[in-house]
Amino acid sequence: MFHYLKLTMTKNKIIVEKKSTKLNSKFVCDKCNKKKVITLNYGPHNFCKKHFNIFFENRFKKTIRKYSLFKSKEKLLIAVSGGKDSIVTLTLLNKFYSKSNPIEVLIIDEGVKNYRNKAIKIAKKTCKKLGVKYHIISFKKRFGITNDEIMPILLENKKLGGTCAFCGVMRRNIMNNFARKMKADKLVTGHNLNDEVQSFVMNVFNNEIERIIRSGAKPGIIKHNNFVKRIKPLYETPEKEIIAYCAFNNIEHYSQECCPYSWTAKRNEYREMLNKFENRFPGNDYSILRFYETLKKKITPTKNEKEILQKQLKECSICGEPTEKKICKTCELIQKMKNEKKIKKKNKITKNTKKFIKKNKLTCAITKYNK
Ligand code: AMP
Ligand code: ZN
Ligand code: ZN
Repeated sequence: MFHYLKLTMTKNKIIVEKKSTKLNSKFVCDKCNKKKVITLNYGPHNFCKKHFNIFFENRFKKTIRKYSLFKSKEKLLIAVSGGKDSIVTLTLLNKFYSKSNPIEVLIIDEGVKNYRNKAIKIAKKTCKKLGVKYHIISFKKRFGITNDEIMPILLENKKLGGTCAFCGVMRRNIMNNFARKMKADKLVTGHNLNDEVQSFVMNVFNNEIERIIRSGAKPGIIKHNNFVKRIKPLYETPEKEIIAYCAFNNIEHYSQECCPYSWTAKRNEYREMLNKFENRFPGNDYSILRFYETLKKKITPTKNEKEILQKQLKECSICGEPTEKKICKTCELIQKMKNEKKIKKKNKITKNTKKFIKKNKLTCAITKYNK
């Protein structure tokens, strides 16, 4: 008998189980004679722990080379939430590039009680363990408002915007602003293959061609001094392999529960649908990513179009971040929010919203590793 890890995506959950079976040739690593501990259905590849680690780490380095994500000596600021993706990004960048590149970490505290504080604890612990300098910036400090104050208003007032969209805009504002202040050459995020494929399909379904042009391993089309280039080294790495890598290498990360406000996100439905397809047709996610890459090359704006876009960029009159309008999207949202009378009272989620939360269970990815 021997034990191996079985990765399955049932509906929206990713389950990593330890299984045992009798040994036969099907259960041997592709690269050596050891027993396999993991099967990647899209290959299919069967690997022992050592060869899975090599495969996983080589792909990470290959993505960096292939998309020229950064050069030697460039200063990298990694946005770390404490979740598996950003913790693995930090671990691998530190393992392979800490000699060639200065690395620091940015942790954003959105102000979500009983959720973000636990994740931040793990992010800080990891930085200390690896000896990487970290900085914590809170929504409260930059915008004078926390997510716990914003979200009840959004949930009661749908026309103001979605919870995750709002939070994402504010987070990106902090990331760019802080990266620029500390003169980072690149701002690194932990977005993985599944995140990218979900975004692409969402953009197709919502007819958002501009967003399709703007995303990718190195998103953005306009070069501007005030924009710090964002990069995604896990762009070609499937989410469930990140969970397996953490399990095999005892990498601590926050995986207890999802953000209490994320259940409204449309993305959850796309995740569910795409996971179902990947289960049924292994390799589907890679196929969508390759199609996206081919399409992007054909629709990238010309030099002329880029110059026009560049000329339209100004600095936000409130926060100084680059924007096409007088006031940037973040400041516009914050203003709208602050104008809501409700915020002056102490915000509490109303009975109606509570009922809604109870009825609509969380549907974000659950990445628990059942040992
Ligand atoms: P998400 O949108 O939650 O999937 O996050 C995507 C990426 O954004 C993560 O992998 C991190 O790199 C970064 N990120 C998200 N939340 C935070 C946070 N609170 N602090 C720092 N970085 C974050
Ligand atoms: Zn092997
Ligand atoms: Zn602004």
